[in-house]
Amino acid sequence: EWVEFNTFFNSIIDRFEFSKSKDVQFLRFLSNKELFVEIDTDKMTQVIDNIISNALKYSPDGGNISFDVTLSNDVVTVMIADDGMGIPQANVKRIFDRFYRADRARSRAMGGTGLGLAIAREMVMAHEGEIWAESEEGKGTTIFFTLPFELQEDGEWG
Ligand code: ATP
Ligand code: MG
Repeated sequence: EWVEFNTFFNSIIDRFEFSKSKDVQFLRFLSNKELFVEIDTDKMTQVIDNIISNALKYSPDGGNISFDVTLSNDVVTVMIADDGMGIPQANVKRIFDRFYRADRARSRAMGGTGLGLAIAREMVMAHEGEIWAESEEGKGTTIFFTLPFELQEDGEWG
């Protein structure tokens, strides 16, 4: 299904912003240029839901979550960044593995199954995109994913 990505993304962010129980600020760096992508909206909603849920879950009160979308050549890059507890360097690559949870003690306290990002990775790969993370313990985590972008051929130029 073809959707305008910024509108689609904003409505998901809105849903979390209206219902969040933590004092976390949402900062949106989305462009107002139309960015049409062909995606499975249910699956892409699940990807973004899982990433935002983590950002909220692993952030303290008073934190910020930033949302960023950039377009270069034929790729849309989505970034969701928090300034929460972060992930130990040695474990960053494993967070997309099934059932992987970075810290047993804290994971038990916070609940969850360790499947959220494994599912997100599968869904992004089904869209021919990539997903990765950058994180620093004590400083925060950024999740990046890409989606292929093609110019629409409906006669609308610019
Ligand atoms: P589930 O999503 O199934 O409820 P989960 O959140 O533990 O459980 P994932 O979403 O797959 O599982 O994340 C895997 C692990 O990666 C988490 O347990 C956590 O240790 C770490 N992690 C993921 N996102 C963040 C983040 N934004 N900040 C810090 N750690 C994170
Ligand atoms: Mg999760």
